[in-house]
Amino acid sequence: MNFIPDFRRPQEIYPDSYWFMIHEQKIIVLSDSGTITIPRHINLEEFNIKSDHVQYMGAYNDVSCYAAEIESTENLPVCLSMHPPLTLLNNLDTDMVRLSGLAGQFITWSRNHRFCGKCGGLTEDKNDERAKICTSCGQVYYPRLSPAIIVAVTKGDRLLLACSPRFRSQFYSVLAGFVEPGETLEECVKREVKEEVGIEVKNIKYFGSQPWPFPDSLMIGFTAEYESGEIQPDKKEITDACWFKKDEIPGIPSSISIARRLIDWFIEGGNH
Ligand SMILES: [Zn+2]
Repeated sequence: MNFIPDFRRPQEIYPDSYWFMIHEQKIIVLSDSGTITIPRHINLEEFNIKSDHVQYMGAYNDVSCYAAEIESTENLPVCLSMHPPLTLLNNLDTDMVRLSGLAGQFITWSRNHRFCGKCGGLTEDKNDERAKICTSCGQVYYPRLSPAIIVAVTKGDRLLLACSPRFRSQFYSVLAGFVEPGETLEECVKREVKEEVGIEVKNIKYFGSQPWPFPDSLMIGFTAEYESGEIQPDKKEITDACWFKKDEIPGIPSSISIARRLIDWFIEGGNH
């Protein structure tokens, strides 16, 4: 994705700027003759829309991107509608879905840090970095980022896929989990696999990463090989887990996710 994050607002708002407007975690999009797009600045002027908690996001293909909160949707014109970003994968290109998630991340952070957690004072945007600073005590708050590992575990010509009640719909995917304080990424991979399905893994290798701003994760992908143990789903995070050959892979996640990239890597014959 050709997106360059930046907290410094351009001197002027250009008419073609994208406005990722958020209301209660949903993105507001423009529908025109069946086509859904992210509104531009010129549309906001046309509809006389007022927004709150504006954050400059950066530039996508050299076009400015803003995140903003719409607190009241009472007077929105009918051509604007609200959707959870991930439900728009069939309507918007994946970059726009990811940027919609990122806008939601900035807005949630901005809204949740209006006051200082240390002294209760008012905060304001810091002018030399993406942060908020308390106007009373000077405490600085950065956007939260939650690192999580995601791992494709293989055993010969088979891949471990699991089913979780956390998943939006009934499909199988690779294992994932949040990194704990004090833990290396490799230790996290071993712990999550052991906790969720009861097996040991070896040969843990870095695969790639992906921001996952739904709401604030950074997914760090790995591949690993089965070492020992029998699969025993923990029945909380994981309700079922099995080894699948590449021609047996069941319903899997959408192509926007690194989970899908890991599964595709396996199907395409990935090996260590
Ligand atoms: Zn303070």
